Amino acid sequence: MNATGGSASPSIFSRIIAGEIPCHRVYEDDRVIAFLDIGPLSRGHLLLVPKEPTARLHDLSDESAAALGRAMPRLARALMSVTGCPAINVLLNDGSGAGQEVPHVHFHLIPRHEDGSGLRKEWRASKLDPKDGAALAESLRAAVTS
Ligand code: 5GP
Repeated sequence: MNATGGSASPSIFSRIIAGEIPCHRVYEDDRVIAFLDIGPLSRGHLLLVPKEPTARLHDLSDESAAALGRAMPRLARALMSVTGCPAINVLLNDGSGAGQEVPHVHFHLIPRHEDGSGLRKEWRASKLDPKDGAALAESLRAAVTS
């Protein structure tokens, strides 16, 4: 483990990026690769992975982040046109506590098909307390710009 909880050894995704392990590649540029998930929640379930070998989102470079953002709508268009899915869930499990199993940043693009297949989310919403919300947003604003 490194200081941020990531693994120092190459992840399975680094080995896919290096071509050591096969994948069903859908998109690739100098900074990112997208391929079919080996255990899809629905038909077309994709993983979008930066080539930068970083385990956690907070350690990712701006350049990789920009490349991920650029690829995402393209992949969404491809999924919609090829699989006919009317909706897509985009998910990033950041940290083992959030369910991350592969210690290499990756977004899941999970088509939600008309047959109901796709991500089933449990969304236990509470109610934002206005006073806590104001204080929290102020602290976060300061943290984001520092
Ligand atoms: P996580 O739980 O880390 O967010 O998701 C890891 C995902 O990687 C899982 O959905 C799993 O099916 C997928 N996965 C793990 N190993 C491989 C692999 O070798 N090839 C592909 N294509 N997907 C993998």
